[in-house]
Amino acid sequence: MKKDITIVGAGLVGSLCSLYMTSRGHNVRIFEKRKDLRSEIISAGKSINLALSERGLTALKKVGVHEEVMKIAIPMYRRIMHDEKGILSEQEYGNPGQAIYSVSRAELNALMMELAEKKGAKLEFNQLCKDVDFDKSSVTFENTITNKDKTIDADIVIGADGALSEVRNKMVENLKHEFKLHKIGHSYKELLIPSGENGTHLINKNALHIWPRGEFMLIALANLDGSFTCTLFAPTTGDNSFENLNTKEEVETYFNQVYPDFTPLVPNLFEQWEENPTSSLGIVRTYPWHVKDNAILVGDSAHATVPFYGQGMNAGFEDCRVMDELMDKHGEDLKSCFAEYSQERKPNGDGVQDLSMQNYVVMRDKTADPKFLLQKKIEQKFANSYPEKWIPLYSMVSFTNISYSDAWEIGMKQEKMMEEIMKTPNIEKEWESDEIMRKMCSLV
Ligand SMILES: Cc1cc2nc3c(=O)[nH]c(=O)nc-3n(C[C@H](O)[C@H](O)[C@H](O)COP(=O)(O)OP(=O)(O)OC[C@H]3O[C@@H](n4cnc5c(N)ncnc54)[C@H](O)[C@@H]3O)c2cc1C
Repeated sequence: MKKDITIVGAGLVGSLCSLYMTSRGHNVRIFEKRKDLRSEIISAGKSINLALSERGLTALKKVGVHEEVMKIAIPMYRRIMHDEKGILSEQEYGNPGQAIYSVSRAELNALMMELAEKKGAKLEFNQLCKDVDFDKSSVTFENTITNKDKTIDADIVIGADGALSEVRNKMVENLKHEFKLHKIGHSYKELLIPSGENGTHLINKNALHIWPRGEFMLIALANLDGSFTCTLFAPTTGDNSFENLNTKEEVETYFNQVYPDFTPLVPNLFEQWEENPTSSLGIVRTYPWHVKDNAILVGDSAHATVPFYGQGMNAGFEDCRVMDELMDKHGEDLKSCFAEYSQERKPNGDGVQDLSMQNYVVMRDKTADPKFLLQKKIEQKFANSYPEKWIPLYSMVSFTNISYSDAWEIGMKQEKMMEEIMKTPNIEKEWESDEIMRKMCSLV
């Protein structure tokens, strides 16, 4: 039966969710607190970019918009690590040809809204969600220009309003849903490497660049216009932290010493440093993700995570695909459908958060460790010889749709086995031998 659906938030996940719901024949209205960002996109170079991988692509494919999105995506086949002397090393992400994709957040969001509208969703901007009545599935919005409130009745409310979700807040306040916010001790700041002459990229565009430095790191992803969006992740306070980087001299000395091959690429480094905000990072855990047959949460509102696996948006897109499958399974019985959604997705929300926290250590620290890089080579060799026995953790997360919770569990077991393998005497010389492959076979 055709339902009236209110989606709160026209971000990446809310827009995709509307595509799924209009495809099922429902009436969808999306309410967004900001103004229409499509009126403002001028330079892709100024926008943050995101890594899109298999789960996100699967969800886009299922609703038929994957080809549109690929037009604005740049494949990244490998990590390129920059050491303290500016010397580069590389690590393939997977098998030849496997890539994750750099996309501009603003361009992707604008495209998703465009597609949502084309498929029949009605979008309203400057509408701030203030209250939700879960019994009536009604939401009260304040128009941020006129300050006037209006209440919208529907059959279903979908909270796609991000990490600070008001829909979730109301579930927590009024229905006593579980809620935990864990802020980590690191923050981030974005910086831009401008394009070279004629829009050329100054460093390899088909790689994700990392300057791993132990407790902190810098990363860079390419934009279509030749620029790179870079993100510095560092402790908020203490040694090598944002707290100690204030004056021009402090900032320039830090970058010259720690990222010597980065500094010449960014002529206006200090201006950017002052202009761009420093933002905090955290994890949101809540449960359940639904209210009877009246409401659900999707995306960051349910499981905001730290960005170190590049999976937040991908996980949110996966929520939409899974919800669609559950709607097929349960038909008119939305109560059971939403209950199963909460039950099935919550361990995956936890899983993506555990994976993201673990990958922070991998990216900032281990990618600079020759032993770790050797371990990954051994895993890749074994995976190529015995694909039915081993998929490396990074590949499970980024190149398959294996659930995050399973990937996390399998990955922890693999890590234990690899600890054994890495204890082999002379492993640096022996790693390609049949003996190592036999030993791996005996452990799995
Ligand atoms: C630095 C950084 C890098 C990241 N990199 C990656 C990456 O490489 N790959 C990846 O997959 N993910 C990445 N992520 C995570 C990704 O950005 C999020 O998971 C994704 O944006 C979540 O989408 P969403 O639609 O759920 O929430 P959002 O994108 O936050 O959208 C929520 C929308 O709701 C609106 N809204 C909020 N409150 C209200 C309200 N009260 N009323 C009405 N509207 C409201 C907001 O204005 C917004 O438009 C990164 C995150 C960060 C911080």
